[in-house]
Amino acid sequence: MSVTSTSPFRLDDSFVREVPELSLPWKGAGAADPRLLVLNDALARELGADPEVLRSPEGVDLLVGRVAPEGSTPVAMGYAGHQFGGYSPRLGDGRALLVGEVLDPRGGRHDLHLKGSGRTPFARGGDGRAAVGPMLREHLVSEAMHALGIPTTRSLAVVATGEQVQREVPLPGAVLARVAASHLRVGTFQYAARLEDRTILRRLADHAIARHHPQAADAENPALALYEAVVEAQASLVARWMLVGFVHGVMNTDNVTISGETIDYGPCAFMDAHDPSTVFSSIDEGARYAYGHQPHITQWTLARLAEALLPLVSDDQATAVAGLTRVLESFPTRYDEHWSRGMGAKLGLERAPGDDALFADLLELLYAQGADHTAFFRSLSAAVRGDDGATRSLLADPSALDPWAARWRADLAAEGRDPAAVADAMDAVNPVYVPRNHLVEEALAAATAGDLGPFERMLDVLASPYEAREGLEAYALPAPSDFGPGFRTFCGT
Ligand code: AMP
Ligand code: MG
Repeated sequence: MSVTSTSPFRLDDSFVREVPELSLPWKGAGAADPRLLVLNDALARELGADPEVLRSPEGVDLLVGRVAPEGSTPVAMGYAGHQFGGYSPRLGDGRALLVGEVLDPRGGRHDLHLKGSGRTPFARGGDGRAAVGPMLREHLVSEAMHALGIPTTRSLAVVATGEQVQREVPLPGAVLARVAASHLRVGTFQYAARLEDRTILRRLADHAIARHHPQAADAENPALALYEAVVEAQASLVARWMLVGFVHGVMNTDNVTISGETIDYGPCAFMDAHDPSTVFSSIDEGARYAYGHQPHITQWTLARLAEALLPLVSDDQATAVAGLTRVLESFPTRYDEHWSRGMGAKLGLERAPGDDALFADLLELLYAQGADHTAFFRSLSAAVRGDDGATRSLLADPSALDPWAARWRADLAAEGRDPAAVADAMDAVNPVYVPRNHLVEEALAAATAGDLGPFERMLDVLASPYEAREGLEAYALPAPSDFGPGFRTFCGT
């Protein structure tokens, strides 16, 4: 990455200027024979770049990290992190670069980040590389999350490097060009909190406040207000994951953002049959990051953020602990509010259910009956329109639904809204199409072998997840029964 080329973006570097101690200037390793696999035209335009410029050889060189845009100062960011509960004081971008901050035409600021761009000083034993399959997985799933309306990093492009990366078998290499509100993580604060220069943590907090939670700047205690804003953003985020059945897979503290965006799609997946114990990661042996554990683990991670923020909240440790603890303890209530409102909407209810246990009993029923999470919730609008055949067909014993359905219908009747409008509102929050594992795996296997067709079709289906379209029935079906148990994806590749 020695040459620079005219930038297709307007770039800034506020993170590097304001907290230079938290990153190291670095360059991409380049690529033998870069080839663009996918470009997100709509996102390119949102960023103020011409997609045709990005498709040109110069554009592809930039997206793969072979050249740096003119005026940019690419860096590898430093951060720490608890990985599966164990603390690593120095992780950092081992195979990634922050190219710069794109200033879009509407005044927005977005990190442009390359993943798989070569070894950095944070690489430890890693090769600095990424494989085509996992980078296309991140592209597909993050764009699906975006279309679902869930805060997430985006993917601008995936470029094949033309080089092999050595995993269990040799695989084609690739670089992902990722766009995020920022790459500030809980782990970034953990890293800064351990540095000798006490001003770094303060400058990091000021930077985070200005970028993501500007209202905190005017609070009596800005650091405490920042913490509260992150707790709220994460409570809202994890509630949305739970509502759509998303399992992140590696919720280490370095994979949890300050902005409240979902980040780092490794062994992530959407569950088929509703089951709180669902795990997809081959390395999550203790099921720490199982579907049903995600809210609790988020609160655990937020406790680690509180520890890092202690010196900023008060010089008096007891006062700081008391303030942060009070906010941390508000997490379950905040989460429940987001989740209950969302679950109500999925069931067509605007008010709290008349019957406290309505939601909990439904989830138990789905689990006991092996019901597909996505298909079940989507089917309920047809039940409101008068046909509960699809809903019943998703249960091992359809009659098990009857007592619950009677309570649900009583709540709907009590609200007295027009059933057609209720059903339409339900369809706007219960997706038909989510990235189902068996189809994702098929599409990635084909792409790795050189056929991007299934990947491109799937990307197109997932761009409109709430709109049922003819001919796409296969994308809405649960996995074949021989696919589910034991399915694992592999991270760190
Ligand atoms: P992740 O599991 O992708 O969130 O990564 C955890 C940590 O491992 C981060 O510090 C990454 O930069 C680093 N890492 C993962 N894979 C590699 C690799 N192939 N080479 C160098 N560092 C890596
Ligand atoms: Mg990570």
